[in-house]
Amino acid sequence: MKILVINCGSSSIKYQLYEMPEKTVLAKGLLEKIATADSVLTHQVGEKKISIKKAVKNHEEGMKLIVDTLLNNESGVIKNINEISGIGHRVVHGGESFPRSAIITDEVVKIIESYFDLAPLHNPPNLTGIKASASIFGSIPQVAAFDTAFHQTIPKVAYLYALPYEIYEKYKVRRYGFHGTSHRYVARRACVLMNKDKDKANIITAHLGNGCSITAVEKGKSVDTSMGLTPLEGLVMGTRSGDIDPAIIFYLEGKGYKIDDINTLLNKKSGLIGVSGASNDVRDILELANKGNERAKLAIDIFCYRVKKYIGAYTAVLGRVDALVFTGGIGENAITLRWKICENLTGVGIELDKEKNDKTIKTEAKISSINSKVDVFVIPTNEEVRIAVDTYELVKSS
Ligand code: ADP
Repeated sequence: MKILVINCGSSSIKYQLYEMPEKTVLAKGLLEKIATADSVLTHQVGEKKISIKKAVKNHEEGMKLIVDTLLNNESGVIKNINEISGIGHRVVHGGESFPRSAIITDEVVKIIESYFDLAPLHNPPNLTGIKASASIFGSIPQVAAFDTAFHQTIPKVAYLYALPYEIYEKYKVRRYGFHGTSHRYVARRACVLMNKDKDKANIITAHLGNGCSITAVEKGKSVDTSMGLTPLEGLVMGTRSGDIDPAIIFYLEGKGYKIDDINTLLNKKSGLIGVSGASNDVRDILELANKGNERAKLAIDIFCYRVKKYIGAYTAVLGRVDALVFTGGIGENAITLRWKICENLTGVGIELDKEKNDKTIKTEAKISSINSKVDVFVIPTNEEVRIAVDTYELVKSS
């Protein structure tokens, strides 16, 4: 059965075509700069990569280009679109409505729309992708996989903010958490690597990419996570502040900042770029830090300190921790940051093996020392394959 996985951003469409249940990737690609004259599609089959430069007006035109490329005699891997049995879409916010992936119906579309104000940057393009692919694929079933779904098992004690209760009742203001598909994927992989049943292990999963979040997984279920109502809460990120004293907002307002400017300041100008004043990319910051740039060093120190603090907190939440997993662009690649995060964590049973950590880049490996009570893994995330599995299972049983 062939399953197409789609991740639609505001100006991009990422896709992977899978053969299921084997999980073989038949083709994958990325269409960028939609709605500009410089749109470009990068399409890959095995080792062969092609690039198509062509102005693409909107997502529907983009989906058509992708489908044409999949059908093309030279670049393609299918002869007819009906060979595709299901389409799985990444959708960021599913609110309290979706504890798991769901077949997309008119009702599901309405609910995704109702969360536009909670995820204004993500849900609208996600839905645009769903509508564009519905117009091309007709009655082929479509599935929505929500970033929030995995975190729906978080208990009230951890998801409720200590605000007047009616704020939750009226506006559903609570912790939702994001990156759920990634946390679920790496937590399950860690269980496979430890040869443990997924319902038995306690795992802390750290997804450190442009956006960063950390999750406490108890016996296969998310019981707490660092992102909240929106992805702004928690860890320090590329351009987001993560946790701050909310009073800073009113203080800055008193200093003449407009509320929209503060929103931009916290989401786009803070975190690594804010502290370093130079870049949101750890590679650039490390280069500057190596040259002695104090602000770059500080940005890295603050980033690592925050992750360490959450590891301590989630160790307390879980009681017993079997594994800590690093994933995402930073978690998979940044050797020095992993080392700094885990430094002096022997008190909570975590100790890295320097040599193993040093040689692990973008591959699945155990990097803890033989003395470490907690197994520490690097596991490259693969949200697409989880979405493919969910789509395959839902389509098969529908
Ligand atoms: P996204 O959250 O957009 O999916 P990624 O998970 O790919 O992003 O993470 C991107 C970030 O990973 C970059 O901004 C950079 O900070 C970091 N990164 C990528 N490669 C490296 C590397 N070799 N060394 C250190 N950091 C890296």
